[in-house]
Parts: sequence; structure tokens; C-alpha cells
Amino acid sequence: MYELTICHLYPDLMNLYGDRGNIIALSRRCHWRDIDVKVVKVSINDEFQYEDYDIIFLGGGQDYEQSIIKDDLAKGKAQRIIEAVEAGKVFLGICGGFQLLGKYYKTHTGSEIECIGALDIWTHGGETRLIGNLVFSCDFLKGDENQKLVVGFENHSGKTYLGEGVKPLGKVVKGFGNNGEDGFEGAIYKNTYCSYSHGSLLPKNPALTDHLITLALLNKYPDFTGLSPLDDNFEKLAHDSMVKKLLS
Ligand code: GLN
Repeated sequence: MYELTICHLYPDLMNLYGDRGNIIALSRRCHWRDIDVKVVKVSINDEFQYEDYDIIFLGGGQDYEQSIIKDDLAKGKAQRIIEAVEAGKVFLGICGGFQLLGKYYKTHTGSEIECIGALDIWTHGGETRLIGNLVFSCDFLKGDENQKLVVGFENHSGKTYLGEGVKPLGKVVKGFGNNGEDGFEGAIYKNTYCSYSHGSLLPKNPALTDHLITLALLNKYPDFTGLSPLDDNFEKLAHDSMVKKLLS
């Protein structure tokens, strides 16, 4: 039987708009396929050995929470997160978590939050907040054109820019995405996936959830041949009705 261990980083501080739903979606879609899942919460002052985990998740937070955890990150976790990303662990970062994985975040008040530096990305705080429902397309997702569309909700003032070697997660179809300027949304580097989408992201987008589960299983079980399909009728109806509503 396959087993996955998920690490939820700073669940008490970085959990905006139900980001925890991403952990629930990953766990449920595994359980429905008889894949065992253990979730471990890691917060301030807790040990973090990335080797123990198959999927690592860091959700969104306000500038305030981001500035609280930066001291804890500096005590060793940042270095281990960099190693996890480089080792190809499956990592999901949402909004504030996405920003923190980058090099720095200069807030709109001019203060600079030092970040982890795992990804060549950086964030500048803007004057206005970028808020609303978001739709973006991801070429790598399986399925028809509709299933390549990811739906979510964004609320950030930070504008994020991608450096060389970091690909966007998708192209914005509706909404602002990383910065409201270059048409990109999120980031992919190795097996690290980032997005501005709350909502939460994964329950609304089962194809993306399965993509991450597949990567984690391939990392752990080289003979893994693919996920069994699930009856996604309700998920598809919910997803497709949002796409229709937002793009009409
Ligand atoms: N504090 C960040 C910003 O406003 C991230 C907010 C969030 O995670 N929703 O840009």
C-alpha cells in the first residue's frame, strides 16, 4: 500500500481563506484510492526535517504573520526548505507562502521582509490590493481545455516577478495573477508549485491536486504507474460552473 506524509508548515499562522482545504483535498483524494496519508503540523520552534515528508505545504498570511515567522525561518528552517526544494520534494506555496519562498518581499510601507530564497522570485507591495476571482490555464494539466483551467480567489497587495529558471504555473485568463502586468500566475520550479489562489485552490481543482499527488508518489515509488480515476462528477460540475460564471 502506498503512503504519503504531508507537512503543514505554520498551520496556526499561515492559513488564509481556508488554505487548510488544500491539505484536506490532498488527503481525501489519496484516501479514496487507498493511499495512506499522515499529516504533520510544523510551526514555530518545531523541528523540520524535510526528508520525513513527501509533500510540504505553506499557506497564505498577512504581512504581519509573514514577519512573525521570518525569525523562526532564519533559525534553520529556511535552509532546510531550500534543500527540500532543490531535492525535488513536492512543495505547494500559496500567496504569502509563495512570496516567502522567494528572495525578498518589499511591502508597500517600504519595509523589507527577508524571505527564504528557495526560488528566484521577488515581491513588491503595491498601493492597491489585487482582489477577486481568478481563472488561469495550466498547459501541463490532463484533460480537455476546460480542465486545464484553474479557478481560485486572490487577495494580495504584493506583486511577484519571476526570475530565470522559474516558470509560471499558468497564464491568467481572468483576474490579476502574480502582478497584474505580465499575464503570469504562480510559479513552478522543480516540484515546487506556487499560486496566489486561495479558495482553497485544490478542492476546486482536482486535476491539479492529482498532479501533485502523482509527483509525490513518483518521487517515493519509482515503479508507480499512475492514479486510478475517481468519480469527479460533482467536482467537475462545481469547477465548470465557476468557469462559466467567471468567463461569461
Ligand atoms: N501579505 C501578502 C499580500 O498582501 C499576502 C496576502 C495573502 O496571503 N493573501 O500581498
